[in-house]
Amino acid sequence: MQKQTDVLIIGGGFSGVNVAQKLSKGGLNVTLVDKKNYFEVTFAMLRNVADPKLVGDTPRKLYSDFIGGTFIQGAIESMNTQEANLANGDTIRFKRAIIASGSHYPTLPLAKSISAFDYTERHQEMEENHKTLAAAKSILLIGGGNVGVEFAGEIASAFPDKDITLAHASDTLLDSMKPKAQLKALEQLTAKGVTVKFKRRFKKEGNLYRCSQSNETIQADLVYECTGMKPNTDFLKAELANVLDANGLVKVDSSMNVVGYKNLYALGDCSALDIPKHGYLASVQGKMLADSILKADQGKKVKPYKTPTIAIMAVTGHDTGVAQFPFAVFTAKFIIGLKQKDLGIGEMFKMFGSKPNKLS
Ligand SMILES: Cc1cc2nc3c(=O)[nH]c(=O)nc-3n(C[C@H](O)[C@H](O)[C@H](O)COP(=O)(O)OP(=O)(O)OC[C@H]3O[C@@H](n4cnc5c(N)ncnc54)[C@H](O)[C@@H]3O)c2cc1C
Repeated sequence: MQKQTDVLIIGGGFSGVNVAQKLSKGGLNVTLVDKKNYFEVTFAMLRNVADPKLVGDTPRKLYSDFIGGTFIQGAIESMNTQEANLANGDTIRFKRAIIASGSHYPTLPLAKSISAFDYTERHQEMEENHKTLAAAKSILLIGGGNVGVEFAGEIASAFPDKDITLAHASDTLLDSMKPKAQLKALEQLTAKGVTVKFKRRFKKEGNLYRCSQSNETIQADLVYECTGMKPNTDFLKAELANVLDANGLVKVDSSMNVVGYKNLYALGDCSALDIPKHGYLASVQGKMLADSILKADQGKKVKPYKTPTIAIMAVTGHDTGVAQFPFAVFTAKFIIGLKQKDLGIGEMFKMFGSKPNKLS
């Protein structure tokens, strides 16, 4: 079947939903396509697995319950400058396309599912992950970036008696944060009983993990590899491979235009804009791109995209965390509480002009 739209948005994550909501409110004919039938606030996934009763299904919502324009569930397999082809054989012709296909974590599918594309299946997937975690006595987390640090803290808060080890390749946690934030996060995790091992690269070897530098081995009931995100841009390789950089990210200019193509845009985790990647930035990019498109359509002048100043927060369990502002790092409860309250779920749905589902 062939469909037609003015603006095709590929991917309904933080960036795609923000741009979709604003453009459809602005009166444009918008079609959002996503492999899943639900939106999910990634920030809450680790607590969702470690302590599901605190979060339930509040991070997830069916697109059909809140999306303004047309929503189609399906996977885009290839595209050019005029049409995109779905896995089911359908084609969508468009005037403009916005590539917001984000990223996935190949070694940690609980963070962003690579197989549960249905709301109920995802709920079950999270329940199964929780049961597996609850049954394990010893846990090894590999990777001390945001995901590894937050997950170690969530597990330690939910299960204070578990034996938790966090191994990191460098000699500080949270590599992209300031030294004070790195030290405070280490103190907070250590106080919760997490053993942090620096300068360790563990690799699976039979039923144990061996460190290539020290030759030390660890055998844990459960191992989470919290390393490496990969952009979801394979569908561009057939007809638009020239838009990808060496890391598989879509090259864009300061208008979020795909370099060389005036009717294509890219933003969020799949684009070369703003590194390191943050969901909050992806949301802001979505709103800014929608504003720019609406303004340009009215013949108004559009300002180039400039990375906004943001606070970065990493929680290290139910009651602690670090907040990095451009001028200082804080650990005070009233500041960390801004994220701890609901891990940003309410704020995100508010941006979409919606509300999260009730905790049941
Ligand atoms: C556990 C975890 C915790 C995090 N915590 C924070 C945090 O506290 N703060 C913060 O700022 N950031 C955080 N992040 C980072 C944040 O989640 C990402 O930066 C954000 O998800 C990027 O949003 P996006 O819209 O670019 O893409 P995504 O959220 O990845 O969404 C992309 C969408 O595109 C869809 N898609 C992909 N390919 C196709 C295709 N071919 N066809 C159709 N649909 C497709 C996917 O199904 C998905 O819904 C966290 C990430 C993880 C994993």
